[in-house]
Amino acid sequence: MKIKSVETFVLSDKLEKSFYFSQWSYSERKICLVKVTTDDGQVGWGEGYGPADVLSAGVDFLEQFVVGMNPLNNEAIWYTLYRRTLDYARRGILMASVSAIDVAIWDLKGKILGLPVHQLLGGKQRDIIYPYATGLYFREERDLTQALVEEALEYKSLGYKSLKMKVGMSIEDDIRFVGEVRKAIGDDIKLMIDANHAYNLKEAIYLSNAIEDLDIAWFEEPISPEFYDQHAELRASTSIPIAGGECEYLRWGFHNLLKNNSLDILQPDICASGGLTEAKRIATLATTYGVELVPHSWGTYVAISAAVHFIANLEAIPGRLVMPEFTMEHDRTVNGLRDLVTLPSFEVKDGKLIIPDTPGLGVEINEEALEKYRVK
Ligand code: CA
Repeated sequence: MKIKSVETFVLSDKLEKSFYFSQWSYSERKICLVKVTTDDGQVGWGEGYGPADVLSAGVDFLEQFVVGMNPLNNEAIWYTLYRRTLDYARRGILMASVSAIDVAIWDLKGKILGLPVHQLLGGKQRDIIYPYATGLYFREERDLTQALVEEALEYKSLGYKSLKMKVGMSIEDDIRFVGEVRKAIGDDIKLMIDANHAYNLKEAIYLSNAIEDLDIAWFEEPISPEFYDQHAELRASTSIPIAGGECEYLRWGFHNLLKNNSLDILQPDICASGGLTEAKRIATLATTYGVELVPHSWGTYVAISAAVHFIANLEAIPGRLVMPEFTMEHDRTVNGLRDLVTLPSFEVKDGKLIIPDTPGLGVEINEEALEKYRVK
């Protein structure tokens, strides 16, 4: 069995209402899905994280090295692609293109063997994941504080046990928004904040000290991902766990974060940092430092399902009789591409996700919607 083709699908959907965070505003959702087909007609789907047009160009370039290879040999394929990109792009978008192909190959391998991806990774170590809701972005509202509080209460009423909100427009607003949301949701819901590296070290220390008594489960991307050692300084000055890593790539990049004691929680994006093949290695590396890992995930149910299968297989370090509950990023922002093009084989109900055993990633693609939203 051989890989016959690697196709890209760039999809776009304009949003009725734009939303923003500390770096820029979103007025459309745009993603790149990847379809790998074998000579006997079997198909796997992948997705990359990053600018869809650039990602798609990268996948088109890499196709020539994958065609003719056996899809069961995912590590051999990964290494071929890694070697072909190393000289030009040790970090960044070309690695997201590699990741998209890698994720598609895992899906394909699972379908060929009739096994779920979590089993190919080594087997599930739990049956349930407790996803956290990612939302609470900024938008034009007459009363943004009230709108954020209402959104947070909606997630709580849906059963989510934890929520993540954006900060990073101004420290004064952050303190007010986070305080009001915490007051509204009560003490039994975990609350995380994400600055998308909007602050410098002094600002990040000031903010974390100001909200320390609000029981923040983690402060994500407080400062620029370039400053490995400044993260360690921040960690030493606050009791709030520091999370990050969605802008990092490959095991060597994550090793920089680990050896600099930068983070309490590593957040590799499976669809950017090197695919499931490399994410498994990053997870192993994290256990050697005793650092927790909760992948970043943003996109359609292809990317989200890759995270589900990956988290199913993660080791809990340290182990104990009553194991910790594993969480997962569940993006709740408006995304028609996610909801109409990709159909997952799980649902999130009462804050729980039962890990599915369908072969591959278990995502069905609605071909009609795929063509409707396809721009390239
Ligand atoms: Ca983030």
